[in-house]
Amino acid sequence: MKRILTTARNGTNAVFGRRPRCSTSESKSRERQRLVILGSGWGGYSLMKNIDQRKFSVVVVSPRNHFLFTPLLASTTVGTLEFRSIIEPVRYGRKFRDERDFHLAEAERLDLEEKTVWCRSMLDESNRYAIRYDKLVIAVGALSNTFGVPGVREHAFFLKELVDAKAIRNRIISNFELAVQPGVTPCRVKQLLHFVIVGGGPTGVEFGAELYDFISQDMSRLFPMEVNDVRVSLIEASQILSGFDEKLRKFAEKKIQQREKMELVKGTVSEVHRDTIILQDRSEIPCGLVVWAAGLAPRSFVLSLGVPKNKQQQLLVDQSLRLKADPMGSVFALGDCSCVEENPMPPTAQVAERQGRYLAKSLSQYSDATHSPPMHFKSVGMLAYVGDYQAVAELPQFKFGGFHSWLLWRSAYLTRLGNWRLRLQVPIDWFKTFFYGRDVSQF
Ligand SMILES: Cc1cc2nc3c(=O)[nH]c(=O)nc-3n(C[C@H](O)[C@H](O)[C@H](O)COP(=O)(O)OP(=O)(O)OC[C@H]3O[C@@H](n4cnc5c(N)ncnc54)[C@H](O)[C@@H]3O)c2cc1C
Repeated sequence: MKRILTTARNGTNAVFGRRPRCSTSESKSRERQRLVILGSGWGGYSLMKNIDQRKFSVVVVSPRNHFLFTPLLASTTVGTLEFRSIIEPVRYGRKFRDERDFHLAEAERLDLEEKTVWCRSMLDESNRYAIRYDKLVIAVGALSNTFGVPGVREHAFFLKELVDAKAIRNRIISNFELAVQPGVTPCRVKQLLHFVIVGGGPTGVEFGAELYDFISQDMSRLFPMEVNDVRVSLIEASQILSGFDEKLRKFAEKKIQQREKMELVKGTVSEVHRDTIILQDRSEIPCGLVVWAAGLAPRSFVLSLGVPKNKQQQLLVDQSLRLKADPMGSVFALGDCSCVEENPMPPTAQVAERQGRYLAKSLSQYSDATHSPPMHFKSVGMLAYVGDYQAVAELPQFKFGGFHSWLLWRSAYLTRLGNWRLRLQVPIDWFKTFFYGRDVSQF
């Protein structure tokens, strides 16, 4: 039985290997190469689901034990969808041959020469151990970019993970509850009910759309007096939905500007405080919630790697997704943490998912991807919800905005959900929201 014995940083011996279980499966797993996947997001999960198990023994390391369907994350911030309706446990996506092949841990350090990745358990911080690989795929995604603006990390909310959505939902509901308590001045009510979104990309616009629906469909009924004081500001330095066609951008802008309680603010945020934000022109905007949805930044694991990166600190890979620093084809990177130098692709779920599938196929056929044909990416289109049953759709054949795009937006994402439980759960949530309203419980 092969065991890997390493010395953990805390001085104890950390062992990652296999206890004897079934000699036949052990010998089979020894024949297969060990493929270690870092991350259970769009890229890692797609690779994990599609890789040929007969050729690879798959080990997944991720700080979360589920896959998150990010395009519907904004819907959970206000309760249009429930949190568990958009996640899939990693252990459902793949039947691991050995249940210990999933590690609820994060990669901290990589030793390319030793072909070893060092991990830290998410459940016991002192538990650090090493995992050996034959092939490694880095699919750790990216963080929200604060652009070094003071106060963002301390006072703003990000919208990347389910915990972020939960925190935002609780804050919105508690601000409304606080606004009706005795002794709260009208000025404070206005501040509590001013919701600010920084960043006019799809994430910021879709969150604004969901918030607008929540306020106009539910909070206006439950808090009829206070709703007059509600304001939603979407702050963007240049133009919203910049990746979309101009006609669709104008459509989205018009929809937002038509709304009484919503406004588009052109500007750049220079400071974020507990109850205010300050713009570059020094104007102060009192607010009760700031959601920061402005760009991507590298994760600390990616920063720690001394390998070629681009200006945005993404790992440079070739067209077969091999790390430029490792032309032998042992280490690959995909999704938001990487950049194909010869053919950069946008940081989207569509790209990451397609890269995962491409790599699964090329590794199964060529094992080290040395002779694999380069990956070609052609977008199937982009969709964004703008609120009030309206969306914008930019597809290769046509571009349109309105109710039809909204129908397309909902049906497209419904069919993209990974399994039948979610495909059943999501329409049930939509149905409940439509007929009974969103749940405003705070917990
Ligand atoms: C709110 C929102 C809405 C979006 N909507 C759309 C959309 O409609 N269409 C679209 O195409 N794209 C959309 N995107 C973008 C899309 O989600 C990303 O481009 C996509 O998630 C990138 O996939 P990834 O695999 O690179 O990273 P992710 O999906 O972010 O996955 C990264 C994984 O790595 C794990 N990880 C992190 N650090 C470590 C570590 N040190 N070690 C091991 N694992 C680690 C994470 O826990 C996670 O499991 C949206 C993003 C957001 C936030």
